[in-house]
Amino acid sequence: SAKRLGRNHNLRFRPALDKQDNPQLALVSDLRAALISGDQLELHYQTQHHPSTGDLLGMEALLRWRHPQNGMISPGDFIPLAERHGLMAELGSWVIEKACAQQSHWQNSGMPKLTIWVNISALQLFQGDLETQLATCLKRYQLKPSQIGLELTESVLIDERAGDMGPRLKALSEQGYAIAIDDFGTGYSSLGYLKRLPVDKIKLDRAFIRELPDSKADAAIVKAVLEMAEGMGLEVVAEGVETQEQCQFLVNAGCSIVQGFYFARPLPAAELEQRWALPLASGG
Ligand code: C2E
Ligand code: MG
Ligand code: MG
Ligand code: MG
Repeated sequence: SAKRLGRNHNLRFRPALDKQDNPQLALVSDLRAALISGDQLELHYQTQHHPSTGDLLGMEALLRWRHPQNGMISPGDFIPLAERHGLMAELGSWVIEKACAQQSHWQNSGMPKLTIWVNISALQLFQGDLETQLATCLKRYQLKPSQIGLELTESVLIDERAGDMGPRLKALSEQGYAIAIDDFGTGYSSLGYLKRLPVDKIKLDRAFIRELPDSKADAAIVKAVLEMAEGMGLEVVAEGVETQEQCQFLVNAGCSIVQGFYFARPLPAAELEQRWALPLASGG
């Protein structure tokens, strides 16, 4: 019967279900190796700008994995894997360490003084001692908390495991770390947490930016969020700004920080340094 065949099929293949034949598991063990060797992982940096002047206002560190066989793997693909397989704490530590080292290098080499925003996974907040880890890195690299910003997604803040999130975030905020809500508007939370938690910035998800200025709904949402944020004394970063039209809409709506391909793609540190050196090298 089909059932019987199915069983045989399973039995026949079960012994082969190891990392040789399971691409997910193979990737997990490759990631473990990458964390040990360190040289396949990189941080890229995407600058944030004033939408009309283009002035530099900050930058986000984005993790990259250059897999020796498979090439660049997107964080959207390997971060969930790291979270499921217990590698996120280590990966998160690597990111914080690397961002602090880079910040320290930039501070000491006359580069623009910008806060580096780091994405923090839920697991880093729930399981690790983020506060101690940050403090250790800051001390090692002689940085101030204001030089490292923390990006958390909405889903982290409304996670049911987040019972003691308030005090933890409050402690970080009181120490001087700025806190941003990433992908704002894509969760399904109430807005109540904005009132309870020490949030400094809202990152408006690119889903609301993509169809600007044509989409009436998106235009209304963006304006409403900007107005609410202003009333609450929060800054807004528009994510995923790709066109001049989107940028112009945001200028008119009073948005003062944009991040997206229109101004800059995420770049390796060395490429960013080359860009920054250009105006100096050419005398203007
Ligand atoms: P995110 O934090 O919302 O980061 C913004 C994402 O949008 C980045 O994707 C960036 O490359 C992309 N992006 C920026 N400008 C534009 C644009 O104009 N158009 C479009 N289409 N995309 C744009 P990326 O680098 O693939 O990262 C995806 C997500 O992976 C991040 O979303 C973040 O949630 C997560 N991630 C990245 N690095 C880390 C990390 O170090 N730790 C943790 N926990 N998560 C990370
Ligand atoms: Mg982010
Ligand atoms: Mg985002
Ligand atoms: Mg995102």
